[in-house]
Amino acid sequence: MQFALSEEEALIQETARRFAADRLAPHAEALDRGEGRAALLSNLRDLAQAGFCTLNAPARYGGGEAGAVAFALSVEELGYACASTAVTVSVTNMVAEVVAAIGTDEQKQWALPKLADGTFAAAAFCLTESGAGSDPSAMRLSARREGGDYVLNGEKIYITSGEYAGFFVVWAVTDPQAARGKGISVFLVPADTKGVLVGKAERKLGQHGSSTNTILFEDARVPASALMGRENDGFRTAVAELAGGRIGIAALSLGIARAAMDKAKAYVKERRQFGQPLAQMQGLQWMIADRETDMEAARLLILNAAAAKDRGENYARQASMAKLFASEAAHRATDTAVQLFGGAGYVADAGVERHLRDARITRIYEGTSEIQRLVIARATLA
Ligand SMILES: Cc1cc2nc3c(=O)[nH]c(=O)nc-3n(C[C@H](O)[C@H](O)[C@H](O)COP(=O)(O)OP(=O)(O)OC[C@H]3O[C@@H](n4cnc5c(N)ncnc54)[C@H](O)[C@@H]3O)c2cc1C
Repeated sequence: MQFALSEEEALIQETARRFAADRLAPHAEALDRGEGRAALLSNLRDLAQAGFCTLNAPARYGGGEAGAVAFALSVEELGYACASTAVTVSVTNMVAEVVAAIGTDEQKQWALPKLADGTFAAAAFCLTESGAGSDPSAMRLSARREGGDYVLNGEKIYITSGEYAGFFVVWAVTDPQAARGKGISVFLVPADTKGVLVGKAERKLGQHGSSTNTILFEDARVPASALMGRENDGFRTAVAELAGGRIGIAALSLGIARAAMDKAKAYVKERRQFGQPLAQMQGLQWMIADRETDMEAARLLILNAAAAKDRGENYARQASMAKLFASEAAHRATDTAVQLFGGAGYVADAGVERHLRDARITRIYEGTSEIQRLVIARATLA
């Protein structure tokens, strides 16, 4: 077994690392304070033009065909500098993969080049509703067929990039009589569609630079050509694409964990108490050793899932393991980093508490830790 990145993967990783350090890191704290939206949008455009928003879209529509390993490495590096930008990029890639997987040629021609050249700052994945979170099959948003159109009514909540997405992929009920999960279809809905309204941004614990909005659909009329894939077959797509997205969130978690622990490792070498650097205290060394082991295990699980995806295998179980472990490891790492800084870790200046807040959501979105365990258990016991 060879454990080595290809030349292309290493180059993409290095490019992401440099972009993150030069362009994202300087704005991360301002975004956390709720400022710097213009810089975020400018960074997203440049990230798109550098290929980071359509890493796995087909080349003929402007995509990179770089593979899931390259995607994971990129999101990790971006997340190291700015979790808010990284999650935006991760979700946009996931949406691009939905379009690439089940879109018609016309839909791909319309959507993917605009994501690749930065015309659209982002794209949004509209699945969750107030009554349908961990169980999206309980969704109510309806798409009623009227002549040559579908008319959408209902509401999606907690939609990442809702405010600046150029389009949404929207899951809706097309057959209310069907068994749960059977009568659901996916639509490609341009953000400027009449009757699509973006609600206010949620106030959150972390990742303040990424917008999270309610999207309302009030008699939003789309042509029948907005249907993606087969009618009433959309739920399968949601489940399949979420697995790919989970690799992204796992990689984001690792990026956040690394950022927090790098700051903590530097700090314990400098800070002295009881006449010696903190780094010489064995109790603290063991904390660091445990977190390093966590991060190494997370990295291996992420690359394992991504490599399985790149080989065309069923990777859902590995993706859930990677997301479960990496997000929980990020929680441990960011909490340890705050602890190693002592009081300085709790106040904002050291920039460590931001990582703790940014990490928390990784255990919740794109399937909570409990739902990852459910996926893993079902696959294991099947
Ligand atoms: C910042 C943010 C961004 C988001 N971005 C998006 C987005 O872009 N698109 C989108 O569609 N959604 C998005 N979401 C929604 C997110 O995916 C959901 O919040 C998440 O899946 C959990 O659903 P819920 O909030 O309804 O919690 P619930 O489903 O109500 O769960 C509550 C608790 O019960 C547990 N639970 C539920 N069912 C089970 C079970 N069977 N066994 C054991 N425990 C269970 C859960 O793990 C959790 O601890 C986002 C959410 C946030 C906060």
